Amino acid sequence: MSAIVKSTSADDWDVSRVRQDFPILDQQVHGHPLAYLDNAATTQKPRTVIEAMDQYYRRDNANVHRGVHALAERATADFEAARESVRRFINARSIREVVFVRGTTEAINLVASSFGQGLHEGDEVILTAMEHHANIVPWQLLRERTGIVLRVLPITPAGELDRDALPALFTTRTRLLAMTHVSNALGTINPVKEVVAVAHEHGVPVLLDGAQALPHMRVDVQALDCDFYAFSGHKLFGPTGVGVLYGRERLLEAMPVYQGGGEMIRTVSFERTTFAGLPHRFEAGTPDIAGAIGLGRAIEYLEGLDWAAAQAYEHRLLEYATDRLKAIPGLRIIGEAADKVALVSFVMDDVHPHDMGTILDHRGLAVRAGHHCAMPVMTFYQVPATSRASMAFYNTVGEIDRLDAALRHARELLA
Ligand code: PMP
Repeated sequence: MSAIVKSTSADDWDVSRVRQDFPILDQQVHGHPLAYLDNAATTQKPRTVIEAMDQYYRRDNANVHRGVHALAERATADFEAARESVRRFINARSIREVVFVRGTTEAINLVASSFGQGLHEGDEVILTAMEHHANIVPWQLLRERTGIVLRVLPITPAGELDRDALPALFTTRTRLLAMTHVSNALGTINPVKEVVAVAHEHGVPVLLDGAQALPHMRVDVQALDCDFYAFSGHKLFGPTGVGVLYGRERLLEAMPVYQGGGEMIRTVSFERTTFAGLPHRFEAGTPDIAGAIGLGRAIEYLEGLDWAAAQAYEHRLLEYATDRLKAIPGLRIIGEAADKVALVSFVMDDVHPHDMGTILDHRGLAVRAGHHCAMPVMTFYQVPATSRASMAFYNTVGEIDRLDAALRHARELLA
């Protein structure tokens, strides 16, 4: 067993206390205590989030923005308060820059459809080789519609961006750089602030996919100076069905509307429609009101945590898990960037990740097996799939020990 690095900050994190906030963690799976190590797919929800949504449906349920009765006013106030919580959390300048969407996927599709309308044949968008499909396919669809060109920044065998290759990707036709802040398949934390600075030197705006970043670190969109930032509520200890597109006001103002319908208009006649102001002009139809309220509550919960301690603790989990897994014969870690979130992707000789996932499940360990919606990453490493243990601040060293033991067991059984 390798030594755990002593860190005052990590020791300040009271994991048993935090676990009590998450009721789902206290259960048995196949006769074992649940060890939930699938946080990159979705995170668990603290009691306060579940209660906020329950309370909304029990007490306040009404449609937002157009009612004059008490419930409608309450629902609207809570919905808009959630928007303000998001603004504060990511330090956007104004709530006009905070658009509620279904999740990261919809946020990126919104930009590809709307910002994309200003792109023409031969215009270029830069992506990276470690993107989730959510940040590849919308651009390919735009390419089919308009004839844009996609350029891809390669990655190194360690799973880091090949930064030296970046400057040469910019041309006079580059219109956007869209990249992930943290890779869901590798765990790599990308140096996004530096990339944004380089892109801006070329006059190119940057969209960051923050789905995997926000659950592990505090993000300040003004400090990063990014132009768009997309994330999902469900990966941030909030509910499914809601997410956020942050957009720099100047860019959002200039973008055509995305979907048409109620909520996003000012006046409608059969001859002509005028649109609402930001951010509502991008929010057609009844939004996920309970979801937004739940997300707002998740943010309040996160704001109450000691982030320095949480991050130090997660880093300790990552180092511990990396050391333990590396010591298992036949196991290879995929993604060894210097800067990573607490996520370990791995393959084991002669064992298919799906079989591995099933064996681990029988011991109460929830990990993910597959291509993680990042097939180009799998192609790069020449593997069909990996197993992925992704941790949050409520996981424990004891759970990693159980993972280690179960992996050794799986190896004996299958390899
Ligand atoms: N980007 C990244 C990096 C992700 O990890 C995910 C979810 N796996 C997404 C985008 C898509 O998020 P959602 O399914 O919540 O829209």
